[in-house]
Amino acid sequence: MSVRVVARVRPLLKSEREADVILRTGSSANASEKSQRGEEYTFQFNSVYDAEVAQQELFDAEVAPTIKHLFGGFDVTIFAYGVTGTGKTHTMRGGKSLADRGVIPRLLSGIYRRSRKIEKDTEGETTVQVALSYYEIYNDKVYDLFEPPEKRTLAGLPLRDNGGKTVVCGLTEKPCTNLKEFEKLYDQANNNRSTSATKLNAHSSRSHAILGVKITVTSPEKTQVSTASAIDLAGSEDNRRTENDKERMVESASINKSLFVLAQCVEAITRKQHRIPYRESKMTRILSLGQNHGLTVMILNLAPVRSYHLDTISSLSVANRTR
Ligand code: ADP
Ligand code: MG
Repeated sequence: MSVRVVARVRPLLKSEREADVILRTGSSANASEKSQRGEEYTFQFNSVYDAEVAQQELFDAEVAPTIKHLFGGFDVTIFAYGVTGTGKTHTMRGGKSLADRGVIPRLLSGIYRRSRKIEKDTEGETTVQVALSYYEIYNDKVYDLFEPPEKRTLAGLPLRDNGGKTVVCGLTEKPCTNLKEFEKLYDQANNNRSTSATKLNAHSSRSHAILGVKITVTSPEKTQVSTASAIDLAGSEDNRRTENDKERMVESASINKSLFVLAQCVEAITRKQHRIPYRESKMTRILSLGQNHGLTVMILNLAPVRSYHLDTISSLSVANRTR
C-alpha cells in the first residue's frame, strides 16, 4: 500500500502575465511560493512537473508503472487535486489531439495493450475483461454518468455495504473491449456531465467525476479482479471567499468535507497508520481507499500566478501534510 504525491504546475494562459508568476519549481522535488510580503515557502513532493512537461512524460513516469500492479490484482487510484483552472481536467482527460491526451485515455490504452499481450502469450487460455463505470458525486450524492441526465433523480443512487465492500446500487457497468469504444462512451458520458450540471444549476467543477475501470483476469487457475479509479476532483477553492448564496454554501461544505477526508486518508496511508478513515465520506468509502493494498497517486495541479495565491498555499499545505 503506498501513495505518491506529485505536483504539476500548468503553463501561463494567454490572459496571464509573466510578471505575476510567484510559483517556482526547484531542481529537486520541491515547489516554492512567494507570498505578498515576499516570504518564500517551500514544499516537497515525490516529484514536481513544470509547465514544459508533456502529457506523455507525466503518464510514463507516474501512471504507466501502476499498470503492472493492476494486473497483479491490486487496486490503483489516481486523483487530480487542485483549484478550478489549474489543469485537473487537462491532466486527467486532456485535449483532443494524440499528444494532448490525458492520463485517462492513456491508462486505458495501456490496459488494453497489456490485455492483448497476456491473451496472446497464453494463447487465449487467460482472458481479460474490462468494464467501466463513471459517476459523479455532487453535494454528497452519487449520479451515474452513463445514464442520460433526464433519468437522474435528485436523490442520487444509494450505497449498500456488501461483504465489507461498499457498492453503489444501480450503477451502470459497461463492458468495453477496446480504446475506440472507450473514447465513444467516455465522450458521451462527459457530455451528460455538463448537461446535468446545467440542469442542476451547478458547475461541473463542483462535482467529483470518478471513472472506474474494473479488470477481470480469468485463467484456468483463478479469476482475479482489480479496479483502477481515476478521479477529476471538485475544485478545492475556498468558495466562502467568493460566493455566499445558500446553494453554493451547501456545495462548498460537502466539497470541503470530502476533500478533507480524502487528504486524511492519504495522510494515514503515507504514515502507515492502521486506521484509514475512508468510511467518513462517500467518495473514499466507495473507493475503499487504502484497502486491497492499493497504490494511490495524487496529482496536485497548480497555477503559477499571484491571483491563485491563497488557494495555492492551501493546496500545497494539504498535499505537503500527506507525504
Ligand atoms: P481545471 O479542470 O482544474 O479547472 P483545466 O484542466 O480546465 O482546469 O485547465 C484550465 C486551463 O488551462 C485550460 O484552458 C487548459 O487547457 C489549460 N491547461 C491546464 N494545464 C495545462 C497544461 N499542462 N498545458 C497546457 N494547457 C494547460
Ligand atoms: Mg475541470
